Amino acid sequence: MQSFVETNREDPAKEDVSRRIHTFEEIYRFFSDRKVARQAERCVQCGDPFCTTIGCPLQNYIPQWLEAIAEKDLEKAFLLSNESSPFPEILGRICPHNRLCEGACTLEDGYGAISIGPIEASITDLAFAAGYTLPFPGITTGKRVAVVGSGPAGMSCAHFLLRAGVGVEMFERADLPGGLLAYGIPGFKLDKRTVTHRFEILQGAGMKLHLDTEIGQDLPFAKLVDSHDAVFLGVGATNGKRAGIPNEDHEHCFLAMEYLTNVQRRLGDRAWMERFGVLGKRVVVIGGGDTAMDCVRTAVREGAQEVTCLYRRDEANMPGSHKEYHNAVEEGVTFLFQAAPQRIVVDDYGRLVGVDAIRTLLGEPDAGGRQRVEELPGSEHCVAADMVIMALGFDVAGLPWLADTGIKLGRWGEVVIEPASGRTSHPKVYAGGDCQRGADLVVTAAADGRRAALAIMEQLLG
Ligand SMILES: Cc1cc2nc3c(=O)[nH]c(=O)nc-3n(C[C@H](O)[C@H](O)[C@H](O)COP(=O)(O)OP(=O)(O)OC[C@H]3O[C@@H](n4cnc5c(N)ncnc54)[C@H](O)[C@@H]3O)c2cc1C
Ligand code: SF4
Repeated sequence: MQSFVETNREDPAKEDVSRRIHTFEEIYRFFSDRKVARQAERCVQCGDPFCTTIGCPLQNYIPQWLEAIAEKDLEKAFLLSNESSPFPEILGRICPHNRLCEGACTLEDGYGAISIGPIEASITDLAFAAGYTLPFPGITTGKRVAVVGSGPAGMSCAHFLLRAGVGVEMFERADLPGGLLAYGIPGFKLDKRTVTHRFEILQGAGMKLHLDTEIGQDLPFAKLVDSHDAVFLGVGATNGKRAGIPNEDHEHCFLAMEYLTNVQRRLGDRAWMERFGVLGKRVVVIGGGDTAMDCVRTAVREGAQEVTCLYRRDEANMPGSHKEYHNAVEEGVTFLFQAAPQRIVVDDYGRLVGVDAIRTLLGEPDAGGRQRVEELPGSEHCVAADMVIMALGFDVAGLPWLADTGIKLGRWGEVVIEPASGRTSHPKVYAGGDCQRGADLVVTAAADGRRAALAIMEQLLG
């Protein structure tokens, strides 16, 4: 261990830009067993590992699995890594590592952080390829829990309950499981087979999965509560926000998830709609987060003539992963920073022809650390476009089926919980992920699902 002076940090090799912009395949090639051991050997084995204690929302046993893989014990590294995490190969791919575990790594200042994310993904990829499996006991307890929503929060809750021998029935309104892992995050960041494989594991462990089943519509929530020992709500925050500007209801101005879902459906041979096609079009994406980066990079792969991202702050204030921003730049996306949209421009024939924007100045940082935005009068200009995609974040959708259940909702419609357990104001119902904390990350949803599973086990099994 501690070879950080002689061995430099390495990131996984990336597919060449000229090839990757024509496909939705993952762009990173993760580490071989030799490379993963060499990169793990750089770890200093800190007494107080900030990567775990401060950086990782799951508090993964990072130094322990780094040591195991540095010693070439793949099975031990795999089991340690999967002990605290419900899907390390997914999180190793899509966590914003630079802000989380790697950002907290002692080597970050000076030598370059340990490549924790890529090592994490590589360990489980290599272990699955070598035929290692995860131990599940089967349903041994006679207890049954309903999980509503099959996104990362629901997957995580199901994973830890199944590991304790608790029966799980999962209900998902979509025709595919995985929540935003299935229909949001594109394949060039996360191969869909990785998600499918996790569902095969969960179902192999005894989970019953009901697709095309919307709770509150196809099945009353009260019935679910009555027929199960506990219920976990992981229904996400799925209401896309609009900018609130004139003409944004034009048929060629749509929401990020409408666009991304339609592309994923086409790629997955499911019913899709022509009207979202961007081939040969000038596309403007409004927003600067991960969703905006996924939209611009998807539009490039879909054959758009030019793709422009309009963001009202600057590069340093972008909320998403910097890695994905740099990937977008490499793939030919133009970024117009400090430009706020004022209206969608429609010509006399009703055609969308552009976005009127105004230059912005950045003021003092707000409570979240991002600089406030002020508009610069007289700087209005038009950015030419045939299609506009709004990637401005998400709100929790109204959950009318929770009315009269005694479950308290917050000011923004989010489900209110006790922070230590994830329990709602209903004694049998727990919640986590975006529906409880607002649109956030896969890893925080996974941590919420695990917290609720542990509390449910405590309640049901003592
Ligand atoms: C385009 C995009 C890219 C992103 N990229 C990243 C990234 O790179 N890294 C990262 O960490 N995070 C990323 N995120 C955020 C991340 O995907 C979410 O924070 C995470 O998926 C939240 O998990 P969840 O389980 O709470 O909700 P979701 O993933 O939204 O899953 C909720 C599920 O509940 C289902 N559901 C809702 N209501 C019902 C009902 N009544 N009955 C049955 N089922 C129901 C929904 O259909 C859905 O499948 C991205 C988000 C988007 C939109
Ligand atoms: S789950 Fe995310 S934050 Fe935690 S170790 Fe893995 S990549 Fe880092």
